[in-house]
Amino acid sequence: MRNTPAGSVTNAPLGVFVLEYDAKNEDLEKTKNWKPIVKIAVSGAAGQISNHLLFKIASGEVFGKDQPVALRLLGSERSQVALEGVAMELEDCLFPLLREVDIGIDARKVFADADWALLIGAKPRGPGMERGDLLEMNGGIFAEQGKALNEVAKKTCKVMVVGNPCNTNALICMANAPSLDKRNFHALTRLDENRAKCQLALKAGVFYETVSNVTIWGNHSTTQVPDFVNAKIGGEICTDVIEDREWLENDFTPAIQTRGGLLIKKWGRSSAASTAVSIADAMKALVTPTKEGDWFSSAVITDGNPYGIEEGLVFSMPCRSKGDGSYEIVEGLKINDWLRERIKKSEEELSGEKGCVGHLMGITDGVCAADLEDTLLPGEM
Ligand code: NDP
Repeated sequence: MRNTPAGSVTNAPLGVFVLEYDAKNEDLEKTKNWKPIVKIAVSGAAGQISNHLLFKIASGEVFGKDQPVALRLLGSERSQVALEGVAMELEDCLFPLLREVDIGIDARKVFADADWALLIGAKPRGPGMERGDLLEMNGGIFAEQGKALNEVAKKTCKVMVVGNPCNTNALICMANAPSLDKRNFHALTRLDENRAKCQLALKAGVFYETVSNVTIWGNHSTTQVPDFVNAKIGGEICTDVIEDREWLENDFTPAIQTRGGLLIKKWGRSSAASTAVSIADAMKALVTPTKEGDWFSSAVITDGNPYGIEEGLVFSMPCRSKGDGSYEIVEGLKINDWLRERIKKSEEELSGEKGCVGHLMGITDGVCAADLEDTLLPGEM
């Protein structure tokens, strides 16, 4: 059933096309083993990252070839017409699994019954803007979106926050969505993990598939800690394969922390394609059982964490999944003094960020430290 052709939509805020895979004219041979449709809401859907990600999801690359999907695209008045263009492109791809595309500018409509919410839309930091200004401006967006998720999304909805500063945005969103389990929220650090795996592989002279057990600890900022202490290469401890400690500490670590900025300098634009790939990886990691002995990085709630990190933060840690959308934090990683000192710095940064957004989380006694260090985000210059 086709509602309105996307190309002719100019005023309708919602509804591009809706198809039902059990409709009479379906090829039942093709669809009989399909799973129930999954509804994926995406904010910032007219942005650069979404321009890569939506097509990966619609093609079946993320959820598999037996999983029909509905895409709910959230924009703003500014991006509404651009969203119609996005929807037109999605239509033109003829993806068999893409059964529904809706566009809208009201989070309460777009998030209705969502199984996933990918919160990508956020305002970039403008010239002269302090990190605190960015926290305040984007925090407001994520508080509103949290309230909307609380009211209309499925209680099992998995929320992946990408828009920066993503850890604290996820925390704000979570605080405003108390009807969703805190463990349903993630902030994206998978791109940092992928970057770390690639650099370790290049240094060791192996293909990156042989690099495993890479954790990004902490904030998606330059205080993040790419963990080479517990990483493995071809099943061996990374530091046994790469014995150049000087390189690991003083080249590899800052290279990962600042890679996004370097990429912008070279290419003049931010890392939209590799970010989209990493979002797909992060989603697949939750719907696929993690390989025995391995783990993946995701920034998740620290409540009850086994590493003594302050509770009530969204902090990147090693996680495993059974493939049912949930995760557990992997225990028992070796935390040496080098790691501990740096993890602490990232923890302090996140604690400071939290102090500055307490008013967006319903906390009245939060203290915003005036000396909150202005660390650059990895995607910035
Ligand atoms: P874009 O600048 O491409 O998009 C950001 C917003 O701008 C969109 O959400 C949309 O907002 C608006 N917009 C973009 N393009 C158009 C258009 N053609 N017409 C109208 N409006 C438009 O940002 P990215 O997609 O590159 O990045 C989004 C966020 O992800 C940023 O906060 C970035 O810092 C973050 N990021 C996070 C990473 C991570 O690893 N966690 C890595 C890389 C980036 P609206 O619809 O609301 O108007």
